[in-house]
Amino acid sequence: MEEQQKSSHVVLVMVTFQGHINAALQLATILHSKGFSITIVHLELNPPNPSNYPEFTFVSIPDNLTESQLSDKDIPGLVRSVNKNCAAPLQQCLEKILHSHHHISAVIYDSFMFCAQPIVDDLGLPGVTLCTHSALGLLFYHVFPQLNEKVCVADCISGLESPELQALQLQGFHALSSQNPTEAGMEVGAAFANALKSSSAIIVNSMEFLELEVLSKIKQYLPTPIFIVGPLHKLAPTMCNSLCTEDNKCISWLNKQAPKSVIYVSFGSIVNIDKQELIDTAWGLSNSKQPFLWVVRPSMDRGSEWTESLLNGLEESVGERGFIVKWAPQKEVLAHAAVGGFWSHCGWNSTIESICEGVPMLCRPFFGDQILNASYICNVWKIGLELKNLERGNIERTIKRLMVDMEGNYIRKRAMDLKEKAAFYLMEDGSTSCSFDGLAKHISSV
Ligand code: UDP
Repeated sequence: MEEQQKSSHVVLVMVTFQGHINAALQLATILHSKGFSITIVHLELNPPNPSNYPEFTFVSIPDNLTESQLSDKDIPGLVRSVNKNCAAPLQQCLEKILHSHHHISAVIYDSFMFCAQPIVDDLGLPGVTLCTHSALGLLFYHVFPQLNEKVCVADCISGLESPELQALQLQGFHALSSQNPTEAGMEVGAAFANALKSSSAIIVNSMEFLELEVLSKIKQYLPTPIFIVGPLHKLAPTMCNSLCTEDNKCISWLNKQAPKSVIYVSFGSIVNIDKQELIDTAWGLSNSKQPFLWVVRPSMDRGSEWTESLLNGLEESVGERGFIVKWAPQKEVLAHAAVGGFWSHCGWNSTIESICEGVPMLCRPFFGDQILNASYICNVWKIGLELKNLERGNIERTIKRLMVDMEGNYIRKRAMDLKEKAAFYLMEDGSTSCSFDGLAKHISSV
């Protein structure tokens, strides 16, 4: 099979967000190991580091974006701008690649880069969507909104066996309808749904055993082949694709902490938290008496006099018990024996990374699929607690419940069970490698 794919050429179009870049490059690495040659098309803002991947060709397209647009203030607006600004450059870029290579087996594009699908349709190339969110996210945000909502709520509930998933479905619908999508949100949703209709396949960075019921539900609505290829970070683990410099000193600090004693706190690469929440987080961590490792990104206003003085005050009051960094080597941190809990915004990458290391989670979702992921974590997999009340006393109590109290035993055990399942899933000859072989075959045959 690999011989036959030597001449196959895949173009991967990625977006500018950290979690999406990670997944795209990991996928490209695996496809390359299966014999595909790879061209990565990326935006100018937040380019990947080509020297980490000498075997790939990198092409940059103009995006007309500024650093300041990369915030959580209006994600749909940002995604709309990306697609508007990049459509024409992407078309020219793909035409150029096609002329020089004569052949493109498939264009795999990040689901946020849906402008790629009409372009590849026009060029007569097969398009494949890469979802860096869960299959559940695919169901809620892209499949169900195309359907008649009333029919579909009743229908989907009648088809699901577990009460937790039924609750999750309702909760998801509630979250969807209460979010009052903006004009940009509606436009982006419709464009994505259209792209999915002509996409020749969908790739999801997930593990089948986590989402069995949801996957069978999607298959009822969507005839497109779906390849579940996760956990990508475990399958292509070697490269560091961080856009910020990782502060490795935190590993030496972790080495000095007792097993499973540290709560790791990170809200990913985009989320911003307001002043009051920052203060309550600092106090909650201080009062919990647990050792903590906290990522406060510069774009979360780190560097402002006010934030620096809060963090300095915190470090003074907790001394060696706390460690604050601008960016952490997260996968290494989660795999460290000293880490016993992860206070997270529940981005999909963070969720999958935590599951693979058996770390129970304290969930503080902010928007979009983070809300669905938190519900999965707390209600379906039961490996975390949701932090609904952000007052410092509640933070302190919930950290203790998650990390040390008897009450958290069940959650901690469930998290370890899921880690074992993930390890077994990875070891099996079955699921993941079958999925990749299927994907490789699909790409070579379309
Ligand atoms: N990450 C990291 N260091 C940090 C914070 C995050 O390496 O200090 C990585 C993390 O391992 C994950 C990605 O950044 O792979 C964040 O993706 P996720 O989907 O969790 O959240 P997003 O940033 O997209 O909101």
